[in-house]
Amino acid sequence: MNKLKIRSIKDFSIFVWLFLATVFAILFSQIYLQSKNEQSSQIKDSLDNIYLKKTLEELTSNLEPRYNTKNYLSKAGDTYESILNSLELNKNEKKIILETIAKEKSLNVLRVNQKFTFKFDNLSNERIMQFKIETDRKNEIVFIKQTNQEGFKSKKIKKNYTKKLVYKETVIETSLYNSAINLGIKPNIIIEFARLYGFQVDFQRDIWKEDSFQIIYEEFRNKNNDVVDTGEIIFANLNLQSSDLQLYKYEYEKGKTDYFDENGKSIRKTLMKTPINGARLSSSYGKRKHPILGYTKMHTGTDFAAPMGTPIMASGDGKVTKAGWCGGGGNCVKIKHNSTYQTVYAHMSKFGRGIKKGSRVKQGQIIGYVGSTGLSTGPHLHYEVIENGKKINSQKLKLPSGKILKGDDRKKFEVSKIKIDVLKSNLITKLN
Ligand SMILES: [Zn+2]
Repeated sequence: MNKLKIRSIKDFSIFVWLFLATVFAILFSQIYLQSKNEQSSQIKDSLDNIYLKKTLEELTSNLEPRYNTKNYLSKAGDTYESILNSLELNKNEKKIILETIAKEKSLNVLRVNQKFTFKFDNLSNERIMQFKIETDRKNEIVFIKQTNQEGFKSKKIKKNYTKKLVYKETVIETSLYNSAINLGIKPNIIIEFARLYGFQVDFQRDIWKEDSFQIIYEEFRNKNNDVVDTGEIIFANLNLQSSDLQLYKYEYEKGKTDYFDENGKSIRKTLMKTPINGARLSSSYGKRKHPILGYTKMHTGTDFAAPMGTPIMASGDGKVTKAGWCGGGGNCVKIKHNSTYQTVYAHMSKFGRGIKKGSRVKQGQIIGYVGSTGLSTGPHLHYEVIENGKKINSQKLKLPSGKILKGDDRKKFEVSKIKIDVLKSNLITKLN
């Protein structure tokens, strides 16, 4: 009886071992397959995105520094107080600055087109470290915060800057940003370049290795020939897979400039295709399995994956109709552009400065920053375009371009274009 019992346990244990071995074998092969899949999809993702990622990381690190500078050009109807109000300073800081300005006789009258420059330390309670007010084209006053006491010390400065037009060109080897930095182009010119092309170029998919660009922009140098400031882009060309996208700066009305292609068509569109610099389109408009809810649902917007904190722009001029919590959409902003179009931006980590219900925004203005609030699996922007009350696919949107120069305007533009082309050949000759 005893022998029999031992035997049956032995038989049984063989069965258990066999069973366990089979389970382990299946488990291991599953884990191996899965990790292999994950690996290959990761490699694919990073290949898709290698030029862009570098651009983006460096762009954002340059956009969110501790210190930043803000320029302001006074308009009709401005007061010193209204200008300071737009900076959102605390009461005490505002009061000190107004008193400082009041002490300067040459600043008694505020004129139109006076240039203001404010330098901020964003980690400090009293944020302004230094500010500058232009009294006329050649003179300015700099106010520097005193470290040991309240208030600012002023210094009159005669500006002795020379404006120089610079021409740069290069083949894009690693990323647009790196190529531009290697040429000595300042980050704010690169950001402006990306913004101008943002109407027509998807920086994720359209830029390839061996594409190239050319650019002419203004640089201001001091007596020691150091670059102290950059001005505007005069001309740019982005050569993508052998086709040219040119843009020319042109003053189409006194005091109003814009960028036009070689046919006199404004490059500006009512709405931008991608309201974020260089992000990766991670989920398109259409039916898809919802990453959190798990079931198939219509995705009524476009998702752009981007690092936390990447600035999000208003894709067109308009009025903010919502800046708050949208449930699944987390922190969201809704903008009404005209009677036809509205846009929605969801999952933001925070809102842009001064963005609230009722405020007016300009195309390209920062309205918020990428986050992962609401129903979201990771940092991305969910972007929706609403046309006559119906959500539509923003990436298929064919928007009419802005201005098209005609008649006399076109003739004047042609003259200005020829001048820029001549300037370009001169600058190229100097290079060689
Ligand atoms: Zn989405």
